[in-house]
Amino acid sequence: MNETPAVLFTREQIAARVRELGAEITRGFDGQELTVVALMKSCLVFTADLIREIPRPMTCHFLRAAAHEEAGAVTDIVYSTEIPFTGRDILLIEDIVDTGITLRFLLDQIQDRKPKSLKVCALIDKPSLRKIEVRPDWAAFEAEASPDRFLVGYGLDRGEHYRALPYIGTIARPAGDPAPSLKGGGSGM
Ligand code: 5GP
Ligand code: MG
Repeated sequence: MNETPAVLFTREQIAARVRELGAEITRGFDGQELTVVALMKSCLVFTADLIREIPRPMTCHFLRAAAHEEAGAVTDIVYSTEIPFTGRDILLIEDIVDTGITLRFLLDQIQDRKPKSLKVCALIDKPSLRKIEVRPDWAAFEAEASPDRFLVGYGLDRGEHYRALPYIGTIARPAGDPAPSLKGGGSGM
C-alpha cells in the first residue's frame, strides 16, 4: 500500500488516448443510441472519461463480475437484472483483458439476452496472456503481461487502494500472489 507506483501511462497520455478512442467509438456507432455497460468498480474512472468523449444518445449501466478460483475458471458473474440488453446496441467496458476468461463469460451471458449488437472496449489489453480466443473491439492501451508487476491507478486497484491515482502505474506483485489470470485474485474489482 505504501509503494509508489512506477508510471506506465501518464495522465496526459491517457487523456489523449481516451479522446482518440471516443472519436473512434462514436464513428463505430454511427448515430445509434448506445447502451453502455461498465464493470464495477475498476472501469469507473475510465468510463466517466470515455462517455464524455462519445456525443451520442446513451444510457449507462454497471455490472459486477465476481470470480472464484475453482478449477481455474470464473464461476460467478453477478448481474444487475435491470440492464436492458435485449435489442440494444451494447458497448461493454472492461478494465483489463488478460486470459480472456472473464470477457468470454460476460459476452456469452450478454449474447443470451439477444442484444442487437455487442462491442467491447477495454482499458488495457494483455494479448500475450490470452487463453481464450477473444478480442476487445477497442483497447486504450496494450500492456505486456508480467509475472512480477501489477497495474494500478485510474480505477485499477490493489486491495481497493490506488483507484484514485490519475495515471496508470505498476507495483511489485507480492510473492505468492496469483498470476493476473482471474478476477478477484487478491484485488477488488
Ligand atoms: P481475465 O481476462 O484473466 O479473465 O481477467 C482479467 C482481470 O484480472 C481483469 O479484469 C482485472 O480485474 C484483473 N487483473 C489482471 N491483471 C491485472 C493487473 O495488472 N492489475 C489489476 N489491478 N487487475 C488485474
Ligand atoms: Mg481489480
